Amino acid sequence: MNKLLIEMTAYCGLFCRDCLRYESEVIDKAKSLLSALEERKFDQYAEAKMQFDSSFEDYPLFIVLLKKIIALECKKSCRQGGGCSAFDCPILKCCLEKQYEGCWQCERLTDCDKFDFLKPFHGENPQKNCIDLRNNGFDNFDLRKRAFYVWDERPGMNYKNSKKP
Ligand code: SF4
Ligand code: SF4
Repeated sequence: MNKLLIEMTAYCGLFCRDCLRYESEVIDKAKSLLSALEERKFDQYAEAKMQFDSSFEDYPLFIVLLKKIIALECKKSCRQGGGCSAFDCPILKCCLEKQYEGCWQCERLTDCDKFDFLKPFHGENPQKNCIDLRNNGFDNFDLRKRAFYVWDERPGMNYKNSKKP
């Protein structure tokens, strides 16, 4: 179990299986919705409908956003795929340079400003996870990890709802 936990725990302390982007049900549903809309030529319905309801003028924008949601899909965890977001992650880069398994091995953890870009989504939880891992290791980390997003109501909520067992 620890091997899986380590593979699924990113350098920053986030647990990839809880992510909305990692093999998530939400992305699967977005793909199904897009193909159903295309199959039924809903764009033509929207064009006719907009004469009676101007909100349907935004239908093309809705499709752009739906495609953007689908494009967020991540098929590998951060550790397996070399970064979650195809952007130059300063945390991942720093850990690889220092040859750390994760930030929990770093003495600068509590005052590191490289976590700032994660705060709108995750608050202080990545750093709290790292402190926990430093103190308690990976045993039962899946039961202790903090909520993935600041808006999650309870820890591990997405993990339990994920399509993965
Ligand atoms: S790419 Fe960076 S922010 Fe994203 S999960 Fe990996 S270490 Fe964390
Ligand atoms: S300085 Fe330490 S805590 Fe900050 S990103 Fe690098 S390894 Fe992680």
